[in-house]
Amino acid sequence: MIGPRNAPALLCLILLVFALGCSPDHAALSPRVYRFERMQLGTQVQISLVAPTADVADIAADAAFAQIDRIEARLSDYRPDSEISQINSAAGRDWVVVSDETFKLIELANQISQRSNGAFDLSFKGLGLWSFGRDNARPPDPAQIAQRLPLIDFRLIELDPQRRAVRLATPGAAISLGGMAKGYAVHRAVEVLRSHGIDAAIVNAGGDLYALGEKPAGPWSVGVQHPREIGKLLATIEPHDAAVVTSGDYERFFIYQGKRYHHIIDPRTGWPADGCMSVTIIALDPTLADALATAVFVLGPEQGMELIESMPDVEVLIVDNAGSVTSSSGAAALGLKLVR
Ligand code: ADP
Ligand code: MG
Repeated sequence: MIGPRNAPALLCLILLVFALGCSPDHAALSPRVYRFERMQLGTQVQISLVAPTADVADIAADAAFAQIDRIEARLSDYRPDSEISQINSAAGRDWVVVSDETFKLIELANQISQRSNGAFDLSFKGLGLWSFGRDNARPPDPAQIAQRLPLIDFRLIELDPQRRAVRLATPGAAISLGGMAKGYAVHRAVEVLRSHGIDAAIVNAGGDLYALGEKPAGPWSVGVQHPREIGKLLATIEPHDAAVVTSGDYERFFIYQGKRYHHIIDPRTGWPADGCMSVTIIALDPTLADALATAVFVLGPEQGMELIESMPDVEVLIVDNAGSVTSSSGAAALGLKLVR
């Protein structure tokens, strides 16, 4: 029982609780979502993370962005000193010893090439000819495409696991990890956040994202962009420890004489793949998801769906070239909802 002798102690306790409840430190300790944004990998990278204080959030986000910078420096085919550029400049000549990281990514890419019958192929880069960033862009000469087409063949990417060396068999051949690097960077950035004690975050590299855990108010909610009505959502999903990655024909493209030309190249023809407008993959691994989004885009809706249905723990939402929407058998169970 609390008698009069205990009253001062009780009052102290109440004051202490009141003081703690109101102190700025305590307020800062209730976790909230912090948002960050940086231009990296040729796109806007956004990080939303749940942290107890702004300082913890800043340090974790900086480290994640630094990790993406490191990956870009090593893997970009636009940077002359990257490992990928070294492989490309030695094409038809020398073996290049690379980091374990680069070697494993090229190995994974080649496995996906095999699995997708060459729809995903790092050696698309050897074609050159296409450029999407310029004003007044126009398609290349068909004769030139036909002439350079033999340079696209993932079997020309030679790997020596003993020495961790890579060689492109033909002069003029080149590779690019552009179809999977964003997914990989997202994956590694999330790892960095976790190592800083963050257990809820979204890292989004221009539509290629991973959602870790949940925010304080409930699951993360992600919108899938409509490929033609910009600003309108095609679908929503609430991913939990999962990647959601979209490949579309609406971000890097140009229109020439009424026809759209975009950056996902069909290795069989050397021309932009024409079966889909957008492909969204939901999977556990963002690197795999990124590569599969590109592969399904190239394969087109029927073969693409067949590939995804044959793989465990991977789902897909496809908008075909007529605008019809289909999704794989497990997509709804993962919470994918079409916006009507
Ligand atoms: P987004 O950049 O919209 O996420 P993707 O993941 O499909 O889309 O990446 C497109 C990039 O993939 C291109 O800019 C190019 O670097 C690369 N790429 C294009 N065609 C292929 C292909 N057939 N196989 C592998 N990579 C490709
Ligand atoms: Mg991709």
